[in-house]
Amino acid sequence: MKKTLFKTIFIFIFSFFYIQSQERNLKGLSKMRLKAIINEIENKSDSLLLKNSEFKSLNNELKDSLEKLTKTDSLSLIFMGDIMGHDGQIKSAYDKKTNTYNYDPVFEEVRGLISNFDFAIANLEVTLAGPPFKGYPRFSSPKELAVTCKNSGIDVLVTSNNHTCDRGKKGVIKTLDILDSLNIKHTGSFRDSSEFKKNNLLVLEKNNIKVGLLNYTFSTNGMPIPYPTIVNKIDTISMLEDIKKSKKQNIDKLIVFIHWGPEYQLTPSNNQKKIANFLFKNGVDIIIGAHPHVLQKMEYRDNFDAENGQLIAYSLGNYVSNQRKRYRDGGAMIEILLTKNQEKTKISDSGYHLTWVHKPIINGKEVFKILPCKEYEKNNFKGLDSKSKAAMKLFINDSRKLLKKENQNIQEK
Ligand SMILES: [Zn+2]
Repeated sequence: MKKTLFKTIFIFIFSFFYIQSQERNLKGLSKMRLKAIINEIENKSDSLLLKNSEFKSLNNELKDSLEKLTKTDSLSLIFMGDIMGHDGQIKSAYDKKTNTYNYDPVFEEVRGLISNFDFAIANLEVTLAGPPFKGYPRFSSPKELAVTCKNSGIDVLVTSNNHTCDRGKKGVIKTLDILDSLNIKHTGSFRDSSEFKKNNLLVLEKNNIKVGLLNYTFSTNGMPIPYPTIVNKIDTISMLEDIKKSKKQNIDKLIVFIHWGPEYQLTPSNNQKKIANFLFKNGVDIIIGAHPHVLQKMEYRDNFDAENGQLIAYSLGNYVSNQRKRYRDGGAMIEILLTKNQEKTKISDSGYHLTWVHKPIINGKEVFKILPCKEYEKNNFKGLDSKSKAAMKLFINDSRKLLKKENQNIQEK
């Protein structure tokens, strides 16, 4: 009996250290084999040595090792395009009786979908500079727009775009003050260089996965960036510096949300492609684009190894705006699932959701509503008048035609 005991202990300790030594090279060691070893040990300890605490603790350690090796963490993201604030939207949010603004109806129908994700990220293409509230060309929207974003599950608003400087220094700073007061994370514009240094890379972390987010714009519409604020512009030298610094921050994936491209073009320009290649070549994993006010294609490139997969959405279009022309009255949300196993993080899944902006008249007032297209389609566009139904159908057909033809490995959810 004693001999068997020592023999079993020996096998046990040997298996334990063998597995430990293999931890760094586990690709070759199957989970089945590990499970088989544990089962064998459990059987032996049950029959021979049930009361031996040393065996039990060794077995627990083995179980822990197995769990560590087989455990998969995940983090889910959803991105939206431009949140605009045209005159019609401001007027629609205003309540004459109470002299207050309320944007809640705008996001009502997409709130459920957005809140399914760990992080929802959109581009805020207005300043929250206070009155006079105005749309094009120098946007300032009531802060209630951001309040509704927060209440609708939007966690992050990127703030570098061609309207960031519409209301000068006050506009840049007040926008950030309001986002901070609402606990909405942001990056892209900064009050000064010390804030830039601290917060340029926005790190989002959940479930043992860390992603970094950077944000740039092609232009500030000719408006100077007011000192001492900083607005991130597309510039290969500074972007490269940011990427290099970001890579030292122990992040799993690096994302760039970028404001670029010619307006109303359904195909990305050569310049967009050139910038995308530059970012990918230097280590960016995911690029989310906006500004053209229409959709452009999305691509997932697995690069023969999922860990090095790269994803780009050239333009997500308008999330909400008062642009009503064909192609401009809607946009897409793109969802991305990251998974991490044995310290390797990959893009495991992605897909898009089409959204269309409806402008019904409710109680004699025009209301803006972002509608999830697929859901409405399933319900045969219930509640829409014939003109709205036709416009929404046209947007869906146009968008599917474009994205089915041009997307690479990214389909509608
Ligand atoms: Zn823009």
